[in-house]
Amino acid sequence: MVAVAALVLGVSAVSAADLSPRAISAALDAAYDKYRGLQEGKNADYIPALAKVDPAIYGIALVTADGKVYTKGDVASEVSIQSISKVFTMAKVIEEQGPDAIAANMGVDATGQVFNSIVAIEQYKGAEMNAMVNPGAITATGMVAGGSRAEIWNKILSYYSDFAGRKLEVDQEVFESEAATNQRNQAIGRLMYAYGRIKDNPDRATDIYTEQCSVSVNARDLATMAATLANGGRNPVTGKQVLNSAYVPNVLAVMATAGLYDDSGKWLYQTGLPAKSGVGGGIIAVSPGRFGIAVISPPLDAAGNSVRAQKAIADISNALGGNPYTVTARK
Ligand code: GLN
Repeated sequence: MVAVAALVLGVSAVSAADLSPRAISAALDAAYDKYRGLQEGKNADYIPALAKVDPAIYGIALVTADGKVYTKGDVASEVSIQSISKVFTMAKVIEEQGPDAIAANMGVDATGQVFNSIVAIEQYKGAEMNAMVNPGAITATGMVAGGSRAEIWNKILSYYSDFAGRKLEVDQEVFESEAATNQRNQAIGRLMYAYGRIKDNPDRATDIYTEQCSVSVNARDLATMAATLANGGRNPVTGKQVLNSAYVPNVLAVMATAGLYDDSGKWLYQTGLPAKSGVGGGIIAVSPGRFGIAVISPPLDAAGNSVRAQKAIADISNALGGNPYTVTARK
């Protein structure tokens, strides 16, 4: 009995997370107040519709792996999901074809380059990269099985909706704005086709990719999507198993490697959390087995990551003991 008690104590010492409602609310309040006045960063403007989004939108949501929802600030406003979508399309492809399909086709390594780098494609002929940067992400969209554009698109949108726990919709203005100005992504799609990574119809892959980036979400949607990953692929709010739990580690590994692009190492060093940013201003992060968290705030830094979202998520996770690499030494 004594030995059992010691063992239990030993195990709980490994995980220092404090996920009491009081601790979570206090952490959200503190981060919200600390960064509300921060004026750093700038909205993405290479997609014209994103330049018009209110830079003052600032919403925080945390959903625990057992489905409790905490919010602070503006969780009514929606932004386009942008590159955060890449996580969920990659998850769909892994579910359909297994993790090796992704590893073999575009790779699971950091490029060290900006998210829409063409040099990164050229370096290894479309391999040795990952599905979190545009070439790998457009290729992943091109790998989703389906007989028609509509069939593929409906699968993608309903998959995202299952992660969020509600029916998501496209922001048509953002979609049209990006579709009219995405010549660089079209070139990336065609180059991945030239290297045989996209098997056919690269323009369709780029077009569906652009539409998936235009899905409209609030902070709570994003946090629920992250919490579904934190809870082994089961949406903790709806109870639906969305992604086979066996594949969650693969998805989280690519997020950890490249979710914040060429700043992913810095981010991981600070927080230990697999995460993904989007140029719409959202970032999601996952503390496996504990919580999913999301912050929306449109102004971005030079790498294309929301300034406030990075700071707020790092503070909140560190306050709650969310870093999965933090282990208390056994006595
Ligand atoms: N739709 C955007 C693009 O392809 C997404 C980029 C991002 O969020 N980093 O350029």
